[in-house]
Amino acid sequence: LSARLLDGRDLARRLAPALRTRVAALPRPPGLAVVLVGEDPASAVYVERKHERAERLGFHQATIRLPVDTPQGALEALIDELNVDPRIDGVLVQLPLPSQIDAGAVLGRILPEKDVDGFHVVNTGRLSQGLAALVPCTPLGVMRLIADAGLPLAGCDALVVGRSNIVGRPMAMLLEQAHATVTLAHSRTRNLEDHVRRADLVVAAVGRPDHIRGAWIKPGAVVIDVGINRLADGSLVGDVEFGPAAARAGAITPVPGGVGPMTIAMLMENTVTAAERRQGLAR
Ligand code: NDP
Repeated sequence: LSARLLDGRDLARRLAPALRTRVAALPRPPGLAVVLVGEDPASAVYVERKHERAERLGFHQATIRLPVDTPQGALEALIDELNVDPRIDGVLVQLPLPSQIDAGAVLGRILPEKDVDGFHVVNTGRLSQGLAALVPCTPLGVMRLIADAGLPLAGCDALVVGRSNIVGRPMAMLLEQAHATVTLAHSRTRNLEDHVRRADLVVAAVGRPDHIRGAWIKPGAVVIDVGINRLADGSLVGDVEFGPAAARAGAITPVPGGVGPMTIAMLMENTVTAAERRQGLAR
């Protein structure tokens, strides 16, 4: 391993004191509501982590667990309640949702100023125009990791693999706003290898183990692995073939312990930002 490890757990820990200071300056604690529909085990773990972190930071919080067969109307009624609850600053609906639910309609029902996941079209639109917005937590966390490591983005060739609304698309927008020259690759991209070989920065958000081969990485490149894939033996790996990639890269995120902890840290930060805005503390 020659690459520098970008440790998301460590950075998340280092960001906590500044967040506590912001929480302490609020007239009332920030409020976060997390809604989980069904019993998907991975989602249950993520929701539990969010709950624990919010509790440790002294948030007012509610974790609402609904049965897997919850109808659309009931979920929307819950969102409406949370939207008008004065103690709640942030509403998050854990994805994926069961198939009877129209996820777009649910996410679109959350008040944009409480949309701490940043998935509402208003926040997406504001982000795309470079206006103040609640920004999706995973790409925001990636930007923080890159900034903390002091890695220059202006003018660099950045490749984002994956174009979901949750990760890849907002990631590409943020990198472009930081003046990178961005390529956004997806399942129809031809010759992914050639794109990777040219890139100074690779962000992989595909959801396929070892999809990005280590030998493709340009020597010295920065590699951010968003992927979380569980193998048959129970272990977690990313989308990048870690060992060979780490031998060539200048810096790389581990899986786990890279992007994942930053996603939760940014959710906490977005909730505080939403609380500050809603309580009249401009930011
Ligand atoms: P999606 O399944 O929504 O998107 C996957 C993207 O990968 C799509 O844009 C798809 O292209 C693209 N893709 C699929 N196959 C290929 C291929 N062969 N070559 C190039 N691109 C391909 O996933 P998400 O964006 O939600 O998540 C991606 C990964 O990140 C997952 O492993 C997920 O678990 C993880 N994740 C991790 C988080 C964290 O905190 N660390 C947070 C969120 C997600 P197309 O659009 O053409 O179908």
